[in-house]
Amino acid sequence: MQWEQLTAPKLQNAVHEVGLCVLPVGALEKHFEHLPLGTDGLNAHKICCLAAEAEAAVVFPPHWFGQIHEARCYPGTIAIDPILTVRLLMNVCDEIARNGFAKIIVYNGHGGNTHLLHYLRQIMLAQRKSYAVYLTDWHVDEKRQEQQKAILDTEYGGHACEWETSLTMGTHPELVKMEALAGQAAAPLGRLKHLTGVKTPVSFYADHPDHYAGDATSASPAKGRALLKLHVDSVVEYIRAVKSDEVTPALMREFYDRCDELGRSGSS
Ligand SMILES: [Zn+2]
Repeated sequence: MQWEQLTAPKLQNAVHEVGLCVLPVGALEKHFEHLPLGTDGLNAHKICCLAAEAEAAVVFPPHWFGQIHEARCYPGTIAIDPILTVRLLMNVCDEIARNGFAKIIVYNGHGGNTHLLHYLRQIMLAQRKSYAVYLTDWHVDEKRQEQQKAILDTEYGGHACEWETSLTMGTHPELVKMEALAGQAAAPLGRLKHLTGVKTPVSFYADHPDHYAGDATSASPAKGRALLKLHVDSVVEYIRAVKSDEVTPALMREFYDRCDELGRSGSS
């Protein structure tokens, strides 16, 4: 079920019958010359929607406003103010919960969101919430990783690569422009290789100034369909596991209660 396609009464039914909402988080950024700006959100949303057909869940529209400052120098990037980015995500989660959902799976489709979304997960403890957030991302689950490896010809990747290009061919084939790729590949330039064990704001840019990491020339729709199935099957299992989980909500209540108790004992 897609949130934006439901009527108000159907959404209320879904709250009672399913109780779980999936929030796909992406970004708007260059994906070299051949993939759409919205690749991460489009793929994440498609994976979540297909998974929700197999194991019922409400899927929120793609959240486009992730962390993407490292792509500000390319056309098409929307890099929202950092503080607003966090507040907006928290606000969206609060609003999903205000409609009655007690569980939210945040599905991250974009590497640049990783630290942001772990921070979001952790600050859920800053004040009592009526809902639990479960965070996962674009990696297939552990038991499918070997199958994913077997589908791909290249090992190095990370952005607009064989994996991502194939996956997009599986989800939105009409949006992939292989002719624009023109047979190009991108190995890391290593411009910061004199710095080991530290990261800088331009670590990714140093290696990949064209916002391309990997070799997409061997990408194909058949690989994309096989990858898509692995991703969807992974998310189906995550939805099932989260639906049946009663431990996280109970522990969160216990945690909030202990915080409140601490305040009370301090003031008596
Ligand atoms: Zn991407």
